Amino acid sequence: MRSITLLGATGSIGASTLDVIARHPSRFSLFAATAGRSVEALAGLCVRFRPRFAVIADEARLPSLRVALRAAGLPTTARAGAEAMAEVACAPQADTVVAAIVGAAGLVPTIAAARAGKRVLLANKEAVVCAGRLLIDAVRVGAGELLPVDSEHSAIHQCLAGARAADRDVRKLILTASGGPFRTRRDFAGITPEEACAHPNWVMGRKISVDSATLMNKGLEVIEASWLFGFPGDRIEVVVHPQSVIHSMVEFVDGSVVAQLGTPDMRTPIAYALSYPERIESGSATLDFSRIGALSFEAPDLQRFRCLALAFDALAGGTARTAALNAANEVAVEAFLAGRLPFADIARVIEETLNAVHAAEPDSIDEVLEIDSRSRRAAAQLVERRRRAAVGAGS
Ligand code: NAD
Ligand code: MG
Repeated sequence: MRSITLLGATGSIGASTLDVIARHPSRFSLFAATAGRSVEALAGLCVRFRPRFAVIADEARLPSLRVALRAAGLPTTARAGAEAMAEVACAPQADTVVAAIVGAAGLVPTIAAARAGKRVLLANKEAVVCAGRLLIDAVRVGAGELLPVDSEHSAIHQCLAGARAADRDVRKLILTASGGPFRTRRDFAGITPEEACAHPNWVMGRKISVDSATLMNKGLEVIEASWLFGFPGDRIEVVVHPQSVIHSMVEFVDGSVVAQLGTPDMRTPIAYALSYPERIESGSATLDFSRIGALSFEAPDLQRFRCLALAFDALAGGTARTAALNAANEVAVEAFLAGRLPFADIARVIEETLNAVHAAEPDSIDEVLEIDSRSRRAAAQLVERRRRAAVGAGS
């Protein structure tokens, strides 16, 4: 029986994880669930899964979480705040931690889980983009495991099974990208948050949906793949594959290419990581090849999708750069979703932030958090300057 702490339980990955857990009640139980702000959603899942702890990040909402849990007559203890999230992530009663918080907000509890030797299921790619080697080292020191949830990385993990020395046997990793909703759109003017969040193949949280539309998601995934599998950026290729049937590939030195395929359903990589090295039923549909017909591929357009080029550059520059890239992206995406920044300016704000913020390579999580907040401040100023200029030009 695996006992699970689910960080980000009320999100898209959280819901898919709970779906897989519910299919295997004799294998998995929920020890703790955390959420950012939604008391209602958190209390609702507690009714179904009866965890020992429910943690809400927003401390002001602790009283209403307590009331909701008590009203439902649950044995669940309510807690709040960043410290409580880190505590349930390293509690001895849980052996598995699903890191499914969105953004750098997930970094500290993910590191805590890694240091405590948990099996960490990493959906929160921003954590590894920010912390780089520090997360990998935390896993090593804790002697636990780090298993990818991101479908591309799960695919690569599966393709590498049986490769004895990945660094010698493998020529390159090939990450597939759907291309997002604007793959064929020439002009990015006037794009609305609703258009950007309407992903052609996947239903996801709003932040990652925008990242998929700018291709920053693929950029973050290149950085994630580099750390998870130990490959430099020049041995990671991105190919656009609009059908999202092949989730990624590995090319070996003998010319063989191994691919992993499946329907676009996050329950597959989640089930893989939860039960690894065994396989369990995930609830995802079977691939129907005669209906798919054809698979197509094209090179990504780095001119239109600047974010992907910026991510490759940041990876080559080190963790101080990738942490700044991530922070600037979070600020720019949030501003875009709030209607304060045009879609086309997301990449510009990130590039200008990277030009403005220079930092030494971080040696600790505190130093990462310092780079993160400096970059956020710089990006927020750049957003505000652009907004003022736009308002001025319009009046
Ligand atoms: P989401 O927005 O649907 O859910 C995010 C979760 O994090 C929610 O439970 C929310 O309450 C919580 N949260 C948000 N801000 C928080 C904060 N400041 N402190 C604590 N908790 C907070 O996002 P999602 O789509 O589920 O994505 C989660 C992570 O998984 C992201 O890093 C994303 O890149 C990654 N991922 C998602 C998918 C997908 O299909 N959705 C696929 C691959 C990777
Ligand atoms: Mg992915």
